[in-house]
Amino acid sequence: MSDKLSFRTSMDFTYGEPKQMVVGVARIVADNPGPFTFKGTNTYIVGTSELAIVDPGPGGDAHLAAVMKAVAGRPVTHIVLTHTHHDHFDGLPEMVAATGAKTAGFGRKVAQPGRVRRSASGAEHVDRDFVPDIALGHGDTLRAGGRTFSALHTPGHAPDHLALALDGDDGVLFSGDHVMGWNTSVVAPPEGRMLDYMRSLDLLLGRTQDRVYLPGHGDRIDSPQRWVKAFIIHRNAREMAILDAIKGGQETIRKVVGVVYRGLDARLVDAACLSVQAHVEHLHDRGLVRVAGQLSSDHELSAA
Ligand SMILES: [Zn+2]
Repeated sequence: MSDKLSFRTSMDFTYGEPKQMVVGVARIVADNPGPFTFKGTNTYIVGTSELAIVDPGPGGDAHLAAVMKAVAGRPVTHIVLTHTHHDHFDGLPEMVAATGAKTAGFGRKVAQPGRVRRSASGAEHVDRDFVPDIALGHGDTLRAGGRTFSALHTPGHAPDHLALALDGDDGVLFSGDHVMGWNTSVVAPPEGRMLDYMRSLDLLLGRTQDRVYLPGHGDRIDSPQRWVKAFIIHRNAREMAILDAIKGGQETIRKVVGVVYRGLDARLVDAACLSVQAHVEHLHDRGLVRVAGQLSSDHELSAA
């Protein structure tokens, strides 16, 4: 793999059935497939005699029943969240009720609780505050399900995003929606920030102890540093193409999208505008692009 990303668009799984990823970690895929969730959200069950759950998923009786069947009466000490987007978070209350587990995650405070917001990218996020029982910050460790998790704050896709490194010889990292093998992460304002995303990729690139990523969607990723590097190269190339388009006279984000994403399905244009906006913000922060007024899809841009 060089700068060309060849995504893994197949996945060996059956809805509702646990599949072992490494010894002591099983995955159950929730039945919420879609353009931003691939086959569905992955819920991981970690441990043997006592358990931890990573990402409860989108909720629903069938997924809860499948997880509880796999739990098979064993105690669940904690349910850990990679981030609070609906497809990972909404199943939390019912899973807490069913297990009595404590919740752990970065936590979240929203500017306007109760207001429903759905970004054009489909990265729908929670519209209320989330205060976990155990707040995990960067570098914190959590003993859960008889294992030790180390939290890595990896914002970019979501401001509250954590990757979670698991103790043991397998070098497992739960990479959430920050690094996945089926597609690039959605980085779209206001949830997403390109500067954060690139920093979070750099953080993972330096962690050579990680040997397998277990992402929020899609299959396990082996040789994960190669993927991280490819994503960095991909984003840098995209940024360069955007800057070239602006230098070439495309004076709004929408026009840049028309050049950089030639032939794009009309239904995906708004999402592409947000992705380009995240890049333009990043260029603007570094003084490489000038913006007339507040940044939006139709405001005027020029190269600095
Ligand atoms: Zn997700």
